[in-house]
Amino acid sequence: NVKWIATPKRTREILEKHGFSFKRSLGQNFIIDVNILNNIMQKAGIDKRAGAIEIGPGIGALTEQLAVHADKVIAYEIDQRLLPILDDTLAAYDNIQVIHQDVLDADVNDMLKAYFKPDQPIHVVANLPYYITTPILMKLLRANLPVTSFTVMIQKEVAERMAAKPNRKSYGSLSIAIQYYTQAEVVMNVAKSAFMPPPNVDSSVLKLIRRESAPVQVDDEDYFFNMVQACFAQRRKTLRNNLISHFKSSADKETVSNILRKAGINEARRGESLTMEEFAVLANTFFRELE
Ligand code: SAM
Repeated sequence: NVKWIATPKRTREILEKHGFSFKRSLGQNFIIDVNILNNIMQKAGIDKRAGAIEIGPGIGALTEQLAVHADKVIAYEIDQRLLPILDDTLAAYDNIQVIHQDVLDADVNDMLKAYFKPDQPIHVVANLPYYITTPILMKLLRANLPVTSFTVMIQKEVAERMAAKPNRKSYGSLSIAIQYYTQAEVVMNVAKSAFMPPPNVDSSVLKLIRRESAPVQVDDEDYFFNMVQACFAQRRKTLRNNLISHFKSSADKETVSNILRKAGINEARRGESLTMEEFAVLANTFFRELE
């Protein structure tokens, strides 16, 4: 007969008791539906062996479910005002470590080595602050953490872009950046009414399973990601035209056309039709010819 935090009534009580007012600038939209949190536990594959990392515990709605379903939880919260509230709402649990820090400044690797067992599967589970979703995910992915999966609530449109396949409207450089590190899938859509206060945008839960190794061989990762961005710089333009603009100081039009031919990629195609494998061939061919 537990009184979960993630209900409208309990959330309102907690906010009133502590005189808490939301800061929209910190993306504070708290979940008030425990069924959604249970779904997230399932989709994330959380069980009693798991270590969980949460970004932005808020008043502890999701943290509480992680404490119940996982072995241990680390939660990063930037807003100082929430610390005494979390002390209060999560007092019944002894397997949660709340850290008062901007996750973008945090050394997550050091923290999880210190807190989790060496062979424990680790999952990131979070209802992310929407204003910095991409920086947070890219930081955690590039840090190459020993994390099995990321299950995150984010803005629906961003989730779709991150999981998009070639030839879709939402396919772009963000799809490649995310899918280079993970297999991405949108696993759930969530109504605005599941949050307090309701956000202005629709939400989805995105599940990312970290890849053991990169799906394509690239000579130089920065060069590869720059090329991908260049190919999407103007979506309606052909590869040829986007790449001519990109290389304007280092290669003339004819050279760009020749290298595209060498790569075996039709210069009249658009970036949105290229698979990750084709982007890798393209970037490697230009790298070898021009660098
Ligand atoms: N997990 C809670 C829930 O689902 O009800 C709250 C989620 S709310 C969308 C996002 C949380 O992230 C807020 O508590 C906010 O203060 C926190 N936050 C915002 N920016 C942050 C940052 N850079 N580092 C850590 N936490 C941050």
